Amino acid sequence: MDADPGMQDALSADTRIVPVGLGARSYDIVIGGGLLARSGALIFERLGAVKCAIVTDENVAGAHLDTLLGALGDTCPHAGTITLKPGEATKSFSELASLCERLLELGIERGDAVIAFGGGVVGDIAGFAASILRRGVALVQIPTSLLAQVDSSVGGKTGINTPQGKNLIGTFHQPRLVISDTDVLMSLPERQFRAGYAEVVKYGLLGDVEFFNWLEKSRAEIFAGGPARGQAIETSCRAKAAIVAEDERESGKRALLNLGHTFGHALEAHAGYSDRLLHGEAISIGMALAFEFSNEMGLCSGQDAQRAIAHFKAAGLPVEIGRIPGGAPGAGVLLALIAQDKKVQAGRPAFILVRGIGEAYVEHRMDMEKLQDFLKRKCSGK
Ligand code: NAD
Repeated sequence: MDADPGMQDALSADTRIVPVGLGARSYDIVIGGGLLARSGALIFERLGAVKCAIVTDENVAGAHLDTLLGALGDTCPHAGTITLKPGEATKSFSELASLCERLLELGIERGDAVIAFGGGVVGDIAGFAASILRRGVALVQIPTSLLAQVDSSVGGKTGINTPQGKNLIGTFHQPRLVISDTDVLMSLPERQFRAGYAEVVKYGLLGDVEFFNWLEKSRAEIFAGGPARGQAIETSCRAKAAIVAEDERESGKRALLNLGHTFGHALEAHAGYSDRLLHGEAISIGMALAFEFSNEMGLCSGQDAQRAIAHFKAAGLPVEIGRIPGGAPGAGVLLALIAQDKKVQAGRPAFILVRGIGEAYVEHRMDMEKLQDFLKRKCSGK
């Protein structure tokens, strides 16, 4: 840990700091227990006495808003709190418009800040609003779900969904600070924790076989809330920070973070972005499909594919299209949804395939016939 001396008071011994190196837009991810109660001091250290509007959702507000309000105290004047409905449906144009207008009504000006206090849904829509409000105001991410702590709060992607697909409208807007209090995860429903864990595993599968080996040994401790949990969050954030620092706008390496997402987003669209299939569950199936297909194409060993799939299963995550409650899509539907993916270039979707655990790469010349054949079998449960 190498914190500013002035920040030491706001940190405890188990605090971890991961820097995201983006030149003048660099920022820190501060990870540890009890940080929410110290978030006012942390924000003050980085942004000064900024006026803050909090954007959150009903579940997070019910469990943790009082602690955040207490922490802001007089250090960072509180302009007001906007509480959204929980769930993916909130990431819509109409909600974005209403959020922006309510932030303006709270008097948020160019030099003020928006605090995105919640899971990835709140982070994505509040981040989007912060990026366009008065042509951009400061954003502080205080992620409260595991998924948001290891992925969505870091890297500056914001977005909303449209009937055409997920996250097709959005901006890049880096936060000025990310505060990940590991204690707030205690109130996160277990299914949501599990779904977030899929993103943790992703970092091992895409580029760090040693991390994956460690996860195989540490999964139970991570789920139980032991010290391995903070370690897993830190390692995930370091992996994401390194990729973002190298390729902020996803012109190359950042695409690897989409391992499992081309299939996963299509499955989420099929399930109507509903509780039938959470994002993390969809990408768990997506990553299993990427490993199985890579194995069929002779790129990756069957042993590695089986290990990856076994780990998702052991964590209680789905790995088969047939496991989607309410029914699996047909292969044709799935392929049409895949064609809507934002990674499509000149009509060809880019896929993240694997040469083994920790060896993901971007495949721009996918054999669509083989993929169609593969998906036909997977969608019919074979
Ligand atoms: P979410 O925001 O819907 O949160 C999941 C549920 O947990 C919600 O009901 C929420 O109210 C509740 N919750 C969150 N924190 C809680 C807490 N501490 N205690 C009790 N309940 C809590 O979903 P998510 O899984 O956090 O995020 C998924 C979203 O993130 C998707 O929209 C996805 O597209 C997006 N995402 C964005 C990026 C990015 O780079 N911007 C990356 C990955 C995912």
